Amino acid sequence: MAVTLDPQLLDILACPSADHAPLTAGTPDDPAADVLTCTSCGRQYPVRDGIPVLLLDEAVGGDPAADPAGAGDSPAGGDSGAGSA
Ligand SMILES: [Zn+2]
Repeated sequence: MAVTLDPQLLDILACPSADHAPLTAGTPDDPAADVLTCTSCGRQYPVRDGIPVLLLDEAVGGDPAADPAGAGDSPAGGDSGAGSA
């Protein structure tokens, strides 16, 4: 089953990785696959029930070296607003 996403939707979707590159339907090997492939890092995101799952945790393939490990929770940066008084 091929991905039947609205071309306009595909146009505004972007890779959740640091590249934020455009996505293309299918894979280079299988254009009819139910995935979206990043045109930059090559990660493949599943499309479930017609809804693209643009999560790095769900992505398959790509180049792990292209992205710093441990994307997500970093304890750095604590601007939680320590109020005085
Ligand atoms: Zn990407």
